[in-house]
Amino acid sequence: MSDPTEPEGAPRIRSAAAQRYLEAREARRTAKPELLPEPPPPSEDTLWRGLLRDGQMRLMVARAGRAGHAISTGLDCRPVADRFVRELVLATQLVRSTLNPDETLQLAGFQQGGVGNFVVDVFEDGGVRATLRHPESTGPALAGGTLQVTRQQRGRGQYRSSVAFAEGDRTSDVLMRYLLESEQILTLLDVDVAPERGDHGLAAVGSIVQLMPEGSREDLARLVQNLEASGKPGPAMVDGDPDAVAWAERLLDGFYWDQVARQDLAFHCPCSAERVVALLASLPPDDLREVIDGLEVVESTCDYCRTTYTTPVDQLQALLGTPS
Ligand SMILES: [Zn+2]
Repeated sequence: MSDPTEPEGAPRIRSAAAQRYLEAREARRTAKPELLPEPPPPSEDTLWRGLLRDGQMRLMVARAGRAGHAISTGLDCRPVADRFVRELVLATQLVRSTLNPDETLQLAGFQQGGVGNFVVDVFEDGGVRATLRHPESTGPALAGGTLQVTRQQRGRGQYRSSVAFAEGDRTSDVLMRYLLESEQILTLLDVDVAPERGDHGLAAVGSIVQLMPEGSREDLARLVQNLEASGKPGPAMVDGDPDAVAWAERLLDGFYWDQVARQDLAFHCPCSAERVVALLASLPPDDLREVIDGLEVVESTCDYCRTTYTTPVDQLQALLGTPS
């Protein structure tokens, strides 16, 4: 029988060349991971992505001391809220990194107790901001309520769904449930908060592993087995290995993978004087009249970054179409 992929009368040398090509390809597939150059030191915030060469899984690893510190101190968080907001910020960064590159992710928690209602926004560029109602809370941060998850893609609509949480739940457990129930993606999300050697108090370190449609039951079984032996990425992030590559090699033992991309993470609030005016302008006219009644300027403070904006009432009266 002739091989239909081999043209009639093809010289024998072709097969040898093809064989060499196949061997080279296999050697490349099974080579050691290709790593990104110049990983930032453990004191800097970062998120890197790893991809299995056969596409079965992806791994993201992130660390944030600075961003969490800026948010926590800005909100004047006591220890419970401090730990919670740092975990929340990093977990949300990791989940956003699994979405399309131009999608933003917002989590809004609604609850009576704990740290109260909270919101975290993660933008496409790795910027993050967060706020919560009760930074002085002392009990479990999550007291039971609903987490609303909103994905927004530039130029397209919003995609929103919610998931319930119970008292004492961890943010990462709630998010894994959301990803399984709403997105039908099997995800392992793990975030830890530990003292940092730098001057940012605590640093949150975490990872997310997602099984892709190409992944098999055997791949999952191997990963679960590796998980037990690999430990946590946080302690593995040392000066000589700030990306915890040695940890990732244990986690992905038996798989072939590469580090493929990196993103900086940073505290970022896109509020501005223009946005404050736009917000005030969106109030019903009677409400706006009530706000500005008897004032010369309206002072408003951003819930996220605590910047105070001063808007002259003249400017708002112009919006109402009434002379000052
Ligand atoms: Zn702000």
